[in-house]
Amino acid sequence: MKKIGILGSTGSIGTQTLEVVRNYREDLEVTALAAGNNIQLLEQQIREFRPRLVAVWKEENAAKLRTMIADLDIKVVSGMDGLLEVAVQNESDILVTAIVGMIGIQPTIAAIQAGKDIALANKETLVTAGHIIMPMAKQYHVDILPVDSEHSAIFQCLNGENPKQIDKVLLTASGGPFRGKDRKFLEQVTVRDALKHPNWSMGRKITIDSASMVNKGLEVMEAKWLFNVDIDDVEVVVQPQSVIHSMVQFQDGAVMAQLGTPDMKLPIQYALFYPNRRFLSGKRLDFAELTSIDFAKPDLEVFEGLALAYQVGREGGSLPTVFNAANEYAVAQFLNEKIRFLDIYDMIRECVNAHKKIENPSVEEILAAEQWTYEYIESRWNLERCR
Ligand code: NDP
Repeated sequence: MKKIGILGSTGSIGTQTLEVVRNYREDLEVTALAAGNNIQLLEQQIREFRPRLVAVWKEENAAKLRTMIADLDIKVVSGMDGLLEVAVQNESDILVTAIVGMIGIQPTIAAIQAGKDIALANKETLVTAGHIIMPMAKQYHVDILPVDSEHSAIFQCLNGENPKQIDKVLLTASGGPFRGKDRKFLEQVTVRDALKHPNWSMGRKITIDSASMVNKGLEVMEAKWLFNVDIDDVEVVVQPQSVIHSMVQFQDGAVMAQLGTPDMKLPIQYALFYPNRRFLSGKRLDFAELTSIDFAKPDLEVFEGLALAYQVGREGGSLPTVFNAANEYAVAQFLNEKIRFLDIYDMIRECVNAHKKIENPSVEEILAAEQWTYEYIESRWNLERCR
């Protein structure tokens, strides 16, 4: 029986992780859950999966939840201490990091130090603290198992291969809802337009990141850390049908690809059962119906966020943190309709240009760079201006 803790159980990845558990109750057990505000859904999850420990972000929600589940013997905790308690809980073998944002860094580090394997969805952790997380995982002999579909695909392509013989990683991208559009078009797009992803149903933040291709930029940096490759050996290939989930080219020119219908349960299940494969119901690829798979180069001029990601990925240090924090801030403002879509790039660019880079930042310095970014945006941007 594999025992699982989940950070972000009420979100898109969290609920799909629980679907996988539901299909394999005899092999998987949920021992701890953490969520933000959705205590109604969390209560349902608690009643169904009976974890021993639950965390929510705000203490007032924790107090409400304690009353809602007073008939059950389950500990409810809150705040960062609560997330950390879930991360290191004695019983669990593996932690699914399905929380959104840089808030995932500290719990991920704590879980590694407690010897838990990590099923990693929270890419922001590796983007900002990859130089700390990857050596630490090695030191504590824990596996970092990618949940992001592209990284899971690469991980699957590397099965049985020598990672030293990778020539390049080919990271596929659907191109999002604005593929093929120009900057003029992007000036006018609304939150509704940006939330219409053609192939994947995901949380709101990552859906906006997919529309801006900032998500692909974060994934490029995530791939660099996960597979120990140079950032310029990660090439983005636009593949609009989202049938090829990513590829690896080896030194002899051979290219391995992982294909399938878009379903996040596959990478989640693969991470939970690695190195085994289990049955997963759902639509299979029908090549007679598919007939063609298209490829294109990403437009780095229109989707400036991807170009900026390569730039900060190359320069490293605290710059990826600033890139990520500026994007988190900007996306929240865009979702609240306070800024326009292209302002996301402007905010990121201005912060990256103004930041004084710190080489090899510690966790404290990463969190300080995040805070600096928020304060810089607040001091420089008149958010009323963009409404
Ligand atoms: P969602 O927005 O759907 O879910 C986020 C989860 O995090 C929710 O459970 C939310 O709780 C919880 N959460 C947010 N803030 C806090 C907090 N302060 N304390 C505790 N819990 C918190 O996001 P996704 O599932 O889409 O994405 C999660 C991560 O996985 C992201 O890093 C994303 O980039 C990555 N990812 C997602 C993919 C997808 O298909 N969705 C694919 C690949 C990677 P609540 O809702 O209760 O407030």
